[in-house]
Amino acid sequence: MASRKKVAVIGGGVSGLAAAKAFDERGHRVVGFERSHDFGGVWELSRSYPDVQTQSPKDLYCYTDHPMPSEYPEWPKGPQVHAYLHSYADKHNLARLFRLNTSVTSMDRRADGAPGWTLTIEAGGHSRTEDFDFVSVCTGQFSEKTIITHPGQAAFEARGGQVMHSSDYTDPLIVEGKDVVVLGGSKSATDIAVNAAQNGAKSVRMVYRENVWRVPYYVGGINFKNLLYMRAQEQQFNQWGKSPLQRVIAAVLKPMVWVNFRGLETILKLQLGLKKHGMLPDQPIEKAVSCSLPLVTPGFFECLNDGTITTARGTFDSYGDDGLRLSSGEVVPCDIAVLAVGWTLGVPFLPEQFQNKLIEEDGQYRVYRLSVNPDLPDMGFVGFNSNFATVLSAELIANWLVRYADRQFPQMPTEAEVNANIDMMLDWKRNERPAAQVYGGLCSAPFHFKHFDELLADMGASKRKRANPLAEQFRYPNAAAYGTFLASAPQYQAG
Ligand SMILES: Cc1cc2nc3c(=O)[nH]c(=O)nc-3n(C[C@H](O)[C@H](O)[C@H](O)COP(=O)(O)OP(=O)(O)OC[C@H]3O[C@@H](n4cnc5c(N)ncnc54)[C@H](O)[C@@H]3O)c2cc1C
Repeated sequence: MASRKKVAVIGGGVSGLAAAKAFDERGHRVVGFERSHDFGGVWELSRSYPDVQTQSPKDLYCYTDHPMPSEYPEWPKGPQVHAYLHSYADKHNLARLFRLNTSVTSMDRRADGAPGWTLTIEAGGHSRTEDFDFVSVCTGQFSEKTIITHPGQAAFEARGGQVMHSSDYTDPLIVEGKDVVVLGGSKSATDIAVNAAQNGAKSVRMVYRENVWRVPYYVGGINFKNLLYMRAQEQQFNQWGKSPLQRVIAAVLKPMVWVNFRGLETILKLQLGLKKHGMLPDQPIEKAVSCSLPLVTPGFFECLNDGTITTARGTFDSYGDDGLRLSSGEVVPCDIAVLAVGWTLGVPFLPEQFQNKLIEEDGQYRVYRLSVNPDLPDMGFVGFNSNFATVLSAELIANWLVRYADRQFPQMPTEAEVNANIDMMLDWKRNERPAAQVYGGLCSAPFHFKHFDELLADMGASKRKRANPLAEQFRYPNAAAYGTFLASAPQYQAG
């Protein structure tokens, strides 16, 4: 029987809530720590920029037992997601497990030699330590802003110019009558550029390095969830761990797969006018698809068409008296620079000796099933990975992790097997699918089904697919169905 553990859950976003529920449900004593004053993580209201909405349609962005309200739009806005997460916490009475305004500042193995970790916790200006048998790290990929500066910034700011990280762009009123320059080409960059253009900015320039494929919410008039999120589509990308037979089948089907992706590219080119805007990517789409593939912000191409947003390839060089100098040498007017340069991945509170075991020299993370590393015992990650259905994925990994911690898989892998799997995955990312190296190799898209299949198989779930083979092959992952798959895994209580 699994012993009852005292479990720390660090983070109170989508993943922290899933982890707290999963460990609590099995009878563990959960203590959650959230450094903010509220749950929600990236969806916490003070952290979201105006008009932010999900990239995932609402039925791909929900827990298995808690659909988003029917009155929500297909792509809910930030405050709606925030309210949804609160309703999930209320439904499962999770608030009682969390300490808000409380940060974990460091963790180390217990000094008394017992399994588990000692956490250093800071709240209200006081620091103290507390021991735990197991730690679930749920701090996400968006907790530490990437901060960059360019020459001349201090003088630019002294003259009244503003430079901010994309997550600090929370008040559109600041752009009225201003020249705004956004650095970056991701979804947050286009969201902010569109928002600024629609809120009275004098000019909006988006400066970005590379053209990337962007997927509109409707591809050729069809909601992208009905085209791109299906097993049939996923199997066309070069997956890991193919058997010799699967390799032969892939070779035979290669021409059809090629035609399929060229067709998709043609639709995107025509629908978005990529050529006209000089935004045609060099890389074939099947090689590029990963978590960094952005959706098209509604209004973005319309703003390019009417000239309210203009673009430039390159990056910032320096701020000067005459404006912002770009790497191309062009000088553009700038009152506000928004740096949509993302987030720095990491676990800053983990001592260096463990970081070295977790992160390889090229920045790739050593994690089995995107959650655990045998050199870091008694801990695991939930939501450290990204994909296009992160709520469902967090819930599945949380349920996987509690069973891993309790050694409740029908067949527990040995340490050697875990390391061999990690090495196989690293080799696949480095040599077969370089796109999978984004975000430290912690992106499971576009292989949602394959990843979920592995998690469910480990847990011993007897049901892993919908009864209707056509629906299973040609429909997006169904959260409620995954609830029934999870329920088909052996159940137990720690005690
Ligand atoms: C604008 C935006 C839109 C997105 N849209 C989608 C989408 O449509 N579909 C999708 O699948 N994904 C989307 N994502 C990805 C999103 O990050 C995940 O969906 C999900 O919200 C991540 O939840 P999380 O709990 O893992 O991490 P977070 O939401 O980042 O939560 C981590 C929490 O940990 C806390 N924390 C961090 N460090 C500490 C510490 N030391 N001590 C205590 N607490 C700490 C933070 O305060 C935070 O509340 C989006 C992300 C952003 C930024």
